[in-house]
Amino acid sequence: MKKSVIIGILTTLMLLITGVAAVNSVSASTNSINTKEFLTGDKLQSTKVKVYIDPNVSSGIKQDIQWGVKDWQQSTNKIAFSYTNNPNNATIRFTTGTFDNLINAMTYDNQTIPNGKNKLIVNAIIKINRDLIDTDKLTNFGIRIVEHEIGHVLGLADIKDSGLKYSTVMWWKDPNTGITALDDRAINSIY
Ligand SMILES: [Zn+2]
Repeated sequence: MKKSVIIGILTTLMLLITGVAAVNSVSASTNSINTKEFLTGDKLQSTKVKVYIDPNVSSGIKQDIQWGVKDWQQSTNKIAFSYTNNPNNATIRFTTGTFDNLINAMTYDNQTIPNGKNKLIVNAIIKINRDLIDTDKLTNFGIRIVEHEIGHVLGLADIKDSGLKYSTVMWWKDPNTGITALDDRAINSIY
């Protein structure tokens, strides 16, 4: 199992949820942005994504996961999400744990197939830091962390261009926004 992706450091206050739009609006100026820098080169082997949530995941984080999955489902018609009770046939397995430093979550490619210079992701594990995310209730913070990590599994890269920090769910540090039209465009370019 290879460590592949790190989401950045907790720097924002947790926000209470007041409703989450499936696709967050971005300014018209982002229409000209080339989404190539959004791509890792890797992508899912199958566009049918089965989600498994470990039974020990707390109720708050479980809701974050369910909202994050729903938001992705509503944002793209290229990927079909469903749930499975069997971790062995899951595309994404969600679990929780702790990290030594202020990492919100990590995504691990669990099984991959070579695809030229890159790889097709067969399945992945997303581990969420239960020390940094409210374990009792749904939060925007938690949802955005989930959405960011799912983005990695779909083939999206961390965005470190600070000019885009409010325009993509893939900004690598504080989760400023949910899934945007830019993210959706990046997905559409690879599936
Ligand atoms: Zn990341």
